[in-house]
Amino acid sequence: MKKSSVLIVFLLIIIVLSGCTMKADAEIPKKVEKQTPIVSERPKVEEMDISETINSQELDTSTWIDVDAPTRIPILMYHSISSGNNLRVPPVEFREQMKWLHDNGYYTLTPEEAYIVLTENKKPREKTVFITFDDGYEDNYIDAYPILKEYALKATIFMIGKYIGKQNHLTEAQMKEMNRDGISIQSHTFNHLELPGLTKSQQLDDLTRSKQIFDQLLDQETSIICYPVGRYNEETKTFAEQSGYKMGVTTEPGAASSEQGMYTLHRIRMTPGMSTQWFGQIVENGNH
Ligand SMILES: [Zn+2]
Repeated sequence: MKKSSVLIVFLLIIIVLSGCTMKADAEIPKKVEKQTPIVSERPKVEEMDISETINSQELDTSTWIDVDAPTRIPILMYHSISSGNNLRVPPVEFREQMKWLHDNGYYTLTPEEAYIVLTENKKPREKTVFITFDDGYEDNYIDAYPILKEYALKATIFMIGKYIGKQNHLTEAQMKEMNRDGISIQSHTFNHLELPGLTKSQQLDDLTRSKQIFDQLLDQETSIICYPVGRYNEETKTFAEQSGYKMGVTTEPGAASSEQGMYTLHRIRMTPGMSTQWFGQIVENGNH
């Protein structure tokens, strides 16, 4: 919006200046004739600028740095931000980790950016990380979201379609609010069943149905599918692509790279009790 306003002001200055130059030699009626079409054209200029700005905000990679192929990025896999079992990271530890990312100048990727990083071998910054949460627990909104906002970090939540608005899970309103603040909501299927255990048509139905839900709910092109319990088979990859996803994430450990296949990307499991130093090493290693 700012860019377009500056452009419009700039255009108007040029118009006025050229108008002034012409005015010097021209008769008064001519000047009036010239101004009329200019005024009527203004809305067109504005519309065009807005759409260009939106596109460039989404995909402007002109300042990105080229890196050696294949690019590796750490995709962090969180679940609940609480305590109680080996998948839950307490808010205090989560805060320390987000602070570390912030203090060390890490760039947090959106799904769209991660796709470009992995497929085009360029990065918005040398240090990048992709933060993800599985299952869409309500504590992601209550505890993780304020911390992410505090450190201006982006993240992605893999939500289960049938758990929207259910106990301990995110509501539509919470997802929409977070989405406006750089938290992407992507698909963790509709039923959260292990995909290889389903028939072919059940698999395809679930992948398609969940994509449609998140596409409509958030007015987006949902681009990532996160396989329940990390399980998939050959058909899963084919169906994920057929359903319109661009990437699939698993629970196989390690940094992600396109060599793994864009529908079988690895992630780094986050567990409680990790020291900040250990966390830092994992993230650093994932970038090389
Ligand atoms: Zn899950």
